[in-house]
Parts: sequence; structure tokens; C-alpha cells
Amino acid sequence: MSVDVLVIAEAVAGEVPDVTYELLGKGRELSDGFSGELALVLAGEPSPQNLFGAADVLYSMSGMEAGYCAPQWEMSLGEVIRSAHPKVVLVSTGTVGIDLAGALATQFDGVLASYVIDAVMEGGSLVVTSQLYGGKLLSEVEIDSFPAVLSVVPGSFASDVGRVVGEPRREVIDVGGSLSSAKGIAIELREPDSSGVDITAAPLLVSVGRGIGSKENVELVAELAEAMKAPLSASRPVIDQGWLPKPHQVGKSGKKVKPTVYLAFGISGAPEHLEGMRSADVIIACNTDAKAPIFEVAHYGTTLDLFDLVPELTDQVGG
Ligand code: FAD
Repeated sequence: MSVDVLVIAEAVAGEVPDVTYELLGKGRELSDGFSGELALVLAGEPSPQNLFGAADVLYSMSGMEAGYCAPQWEMSLGEVIRSAHPKVVLVSTGTVGIDLAGALATQFDGVLASYVIDAVMEGGSLVVTSQLYGGKLLSEVEIDSFPAVLSVVPGSFASDVGRVVGEPRREVIDVGGSLSSAKGIAIELREPDSSGVDITAAPLLVSVGRGIGSKENVELVAELAEAMKAPLSASRPVIDQGWLPKPHQVGKSGKKVKPTVYLAFGISGAPEHLEGMRSADVIIACNTDAKAPIFEVAHYGTTLDLFDLVPELTDQVGG
């Protein structure tokens, strides 16, 4: 049986991101549609490997240096694609995937579909939906030329479907030879300064958006967050204007969060923000505009003015 779908697990610093399991779940569905095999390639050194049971084949690479380095990963993964010759390559639209997807597609004169949020087999054809302008427009394309590299927006598919315990067949591909001509080496992986804040691990997040109006006003929501013993998170404009540091940012170019409760004050709910928080179990929004898109994902909401609501809440919580 041939490999029809290849998922790239882009683990940096040994951690497998959730999106890898999303890609495995969707990859399983697509490879069944092609009646072929699903393969996973481990770029980097992720664990735990027994959670890759959704794949039929597990490729690892020998001769590859540790650490992410775009030119090296492009060449190594190119080697794997040459060996497995899949019809479809799935990679995430993350920091690493954005680097890799276009480079891999051009190596094979293949098709590239970016910002993919859905991919289905329809009557033997692959139909892909991509978001444009941050989700304001959707484009649907039928792909009939392969290989096709799909760069998938994280959060588009369920990840639990891909979390199957099992032992895929293992194959090691020596990529050392191809790396000799790579035009770059990894020197050091530097984590951004987190300022002691980790908004990704908190069960409750109090989040503030541009509706707060000024840096001084942010203190109002910070007091509520403190009273609730929750970290303060924010939308991008709050970060861009220097009202809070970058580690507080939720969204496409910030952190992806999945708290039990997400409280959003003065946040409109732009697609790039929703991308980072829509998987919260309960979303509660406060926005004076009843038509704000945040209310489309919120489980509870109010159109009260945040300047009236927040101090009252802080009082009631006991701040
Ligand atoms: P706005 O859209 O201006 O909304 C403010 C809201 O506050 C309004 O809905 C208003 O009705 C409400 N409001 C005003 N006053 C009050 C009041 N007194 N009480 C209650 N409500 C009030 N954005 C992110 O958040 N995270 C990202 O990671 C991110 N990445 C991006 C990446 C790219 C490539 C691009 C192009 C954009 C990105 N953005 C991101 C920006 C995104 O498109 C939006 O511009 C941003 O999310 C809007 O932030 P906001 O909701 O705080 O502001």
C-alpha cells in the first residue's frame, strides 16, 4: 500500500503540539478516502511516540541536527517526501509550518493550499477550504494535481481523533547527505521572555481588549483578574499599543489558550483572536456592541459597559 497522506509533526524542544494530533485525525480520514496509508514524520524529537497510533508508518530521520532550522528541515523533509511520495502533505500554519509549507511545495512543483480550515474527499477529489483575510472570506478549491501541501490553521479539526495509542511501522530515513548543502545551521533556541506569566496553563483567564481605551484603564481589569486569582490576557491591540507585554497576548500571533472559563472584556472577536481562544470550555463576553462577533462564540454575554461591570464584579469577588 502506498503512503497517500504524510503529516509533519513539528515538535520544537521535544513537545508535540496539539495540532499534530488534529492533522493525524484529518490525515486518517483523507488517507482512508484515497485507500492508502497515513504516515507521520517526526522532525525534531517529540514524545510520546505511542500516541502516534493513528499513523500506519512513522518516519524518523537520522543525520539531522537537533533544533529547528528552516533550510535543514526543508531539505530533510524533502528527502522523506521523495522516499514516501505522498499525494498530500499536512503541516500546520504555525511559525514552523509557514516556513516549511511553501518551500516543500516548490521543491516538488506541487500545489500549496494555505490557511486551510477543511479538507474532504468528494467523489475521489480533494476539496479544500481556506480562509482569506483572516477568515472574512472562505475559498473552496478542488485539487486534482499532486503532491499537494496543505498548511492547516490550528484548531480546525478535533485533536482527540488523532490521539490513538498504537505502534505504527517504523522507518528511518538517512537525511545526512542532503544536509551538506543546507544554507544554514541552528545555533540556539531562545524562548521569549515570559515575564513569569503563563496564560496557556490557567483554568480561568480574564482578558481585555481595545475597548478598555487606555493603558491606565487596563489596571481596572487587572484588579478583577487579581481578585479572581487569574492571569490577565489580552487581544493584540492591547499588546501593540504597549498596554501589556507580549506574553499576555491571545490569538493567531499570540498564545493559544484553552481555559475552563474565558472572560472577554471589550474584545470584538476578530477571527485572529478567536483562533487563540475559541476552544475554551465556557466563554463569557462583555461588549457594548450586541452585534460584535464575540457573541457568536460566547456561551454567556452582556452588552453592559465594561466600566460599569468590572468594578462591580471586583467588589463582589472580594477585591
Ligand atoms: P476591537 O476590534 O477594536 O474591539 C473592541 C471592542 O470593544 C468592540 O467590539 C467594542 O464594541 C468594544 N467596546 C468598546 N468600548 C466598550 C465598553 N466600554 N464596554 C464593553 N465593550 C466595549 N488579534 C488578536 O487579538 N490576537 C492575535 O494574535 C492577532 N493576530 C493577528 C495576526 C494577523 C496576521 C492579523 C492581520 C491580525 C491579528 N490580530 C490579532 C488582530 C485582529 O484582526 C483584531 O484587530 C483584534 O483582535 C481586535 O482586537 P479587539 O477586539 O481588542 O479590538
